[in-house]
Amino acid sequence: MLLEATTPSVDQEINPWESAAHRFDEAAELLRLDDGMRKVLRSPAMELTVNIPVVLDDGRIEVFTGYRVQHSIARGPAKGGIRFAPDVSLDEVRALAAWMTWKCAVANIPFGGGKGGVICEPQLLSESELERITRRYTAEICEFIGPERDVPAPDVNTNEQTMAWIMDTYSMHQRHTVTAVVTGKPLELGGSLGRPEATGRGCLFVTEQALKQLGLDVSRTRVVIQGFGNVGGMAARLMTRRGLKVVAIIEYDGAVYNPHGLNIEELMSHRLETGSICGFPGGEDLDKDQAMLLDCDVLLPAARENVITSANAERIRAKILCEGANGPTTFVADSILAEKKVFVIPDILANAGGVTVSYFEWVQDRQGYFWNEKMVNDRLEEIMVTSFHDVIGYAEKHGVNNRTAAYMLALDRVAYAIKKRGLYA
Ligand code: GLU
Repeated sequence: MLLEATTPSVDQEINPWESAAHRFDEAAELLRLDDGMRKVLRSPAMELTVNIPVVLDDGRIEVFTGYRVQHSIARGPAKGGIRFAPDVSLDEVRALAAWMTWKCAVANIPFGGGKGGVICEPQLLSESELERITRRYTAEICEFIGPERDVPAPDVNTNEQTMAWIMDTYSMHQRHTVTAVVTGKPLELGGSLGRPEATGRGCLFVTEQALKQLGLDVSRTRVVIQGFGNVGGMAARLMTRRGLKVVAIIEYDGAVYNPHGLNIEELMSHRLETGSICGFPGGEDLDKDQAMLLDCDVLLPAARENVITSANAERIRAKILCEGANGPTTFVADSILAEKKVFVIPDILANAGGVTVSYFEWVQDRQGYFWNEKMVNDRLEEIMVTSFHDVIGYAEKHGVNNRTAAYMLALDRVAYAIKKRGLYA
């Protein structure tokens, strides 16, 4: 009876804020953080909801709801992407903002955490409608963002064009060009070399460390990737180049499988031509839910939240789970994976490559001095490898799993900053 009363409902399980809060509470308890500090770290520092009127191409006016949440600015300006999707919610943006705080702390870069989102269906909107939504959203959050305050970046369904519009709109309000207000910009507008590949490249670096840790041979490594966009696509490309075998790619409309390894460049061309990865001549089509359960060394979810839940965690057969997406695993699935001894590289470590190169971009913009690609990639590798070993070391020292270790490390760093700064009354 007691068990039944404490078992989370499906709604609780898939609510990202519940997952974030659950992991936070666990780490805070293990760190014996005092009650006051828990309250400070648990609640987002600022939440903004805006309803933005936009004229559509056919002349109609539509009102879109958008959010920007700053979870913490204790270690530096808030940092985090903006996503456009029909199912964006305040709870999701809150969780994503908190994850950014923990991610920046794990990578030890001088940022807090923030996130934004607009409820819309980008696939149904024209380029000029998207531009008007982006510009009006930016105008509404203009007072809250800035190079020293809160620095947005791309996320699901936003890209370097979106960032260029945000930079331009913000700059028009400031009456001068402010490139450091966003990262993930086009190269010609203050972007950084290596930024588009950074999240995927970061996933590669931590996967290599995990393989070493488990004594697995790179050339025999079979990888399954869910998501074939900026993160999954880049990771697939870079991993293949490094000698790993990407045996399956899973997308929203199906999966393709080739036990000998997929030719990623050809699969990208096939998708470009047909609009889908399905029907690829270099592999066989597979049911997407089945593909998640393939026997493999590395499973890399690189799309959205809640793909590994209590419904499939038991049947996952990967040795390593590298979380390229934010929040792909629910907190209920965590304990199932831990029991199965899956080596989890948690999202706040695994996908930190994107925000790390965002940090490099912000530094370059502020200095007006731009680095070559080797410098970006070498420094990224250094941070990813160091962060990996910081987390693994913490896990060993405290006898906890990698996710809990990453949270403990992050909470510890942020709590330290808050304590040192003290509370302004
Ligand atoms: N949206 C990415 C993330 O979730 C990048 C954020 C950034 O670069 O600020 O980590």
